[in-house]
Amino acid sequence: MAALQLEVVTPNGPVVQAEADYVGIPGELGQLGIMPGHSPLLTALTPGRLYFRKNDQNTDVFISGGFAEISENRVSILAESAELKEHIDVARAQRAMDRARQRLEKAASDETIDVLRAEAALLRASLRMKIASGS
Ligand code: ATP
Repeated sequence: MAALQLEVVTPNGPVVQAEADYVGIPGELGQLGIMPGHSPLLTALTPGRLYFRKNDQNTDVFISGGFAEISENRVSILAESAELKEHIDVARAQRAMDRARQRLEKAASDETIDVLRAEAALLRASLRMKIASGS
């Protein structure tokens, strides 16, 4: 029987509400594997792939970073943005990647460009494409 309750919430509302046997999350200090009975934890997350397993079936989710709270077999994720793999718009991610690359190419000669912001956008776009393609 599945024993974890997973919730992924964004400012636009819940993205995942599911039971799971196992949840893998991109912790700031490395990938975290959560099984039933995990000790209470509050941790920051990096942009990356969250996945959960139920009845031997994995579901992949992109998360943009955020926070995870684990307590009494509940895994609560608060993220700025998150999408289930099948909801990732690959063409949109490609456009975001192209825009970010163009900004970074111009950065050396244009000091108005926010390099950190462009790098973060590039990372989100490449992670979305990676997750969508299953690699
Ligand atoms: P973009 O420049 O395309 O908006 P972004 O990385 O800046 O990309 P975010 O700020 O992470 O976008 O997300 C804004 C909203 O758009 C969120 O609700 C997020 O789930 C959604 N979103 C962004 N990119 C995609 C995508 N490729 N597929 C599906 N939803 C997306």
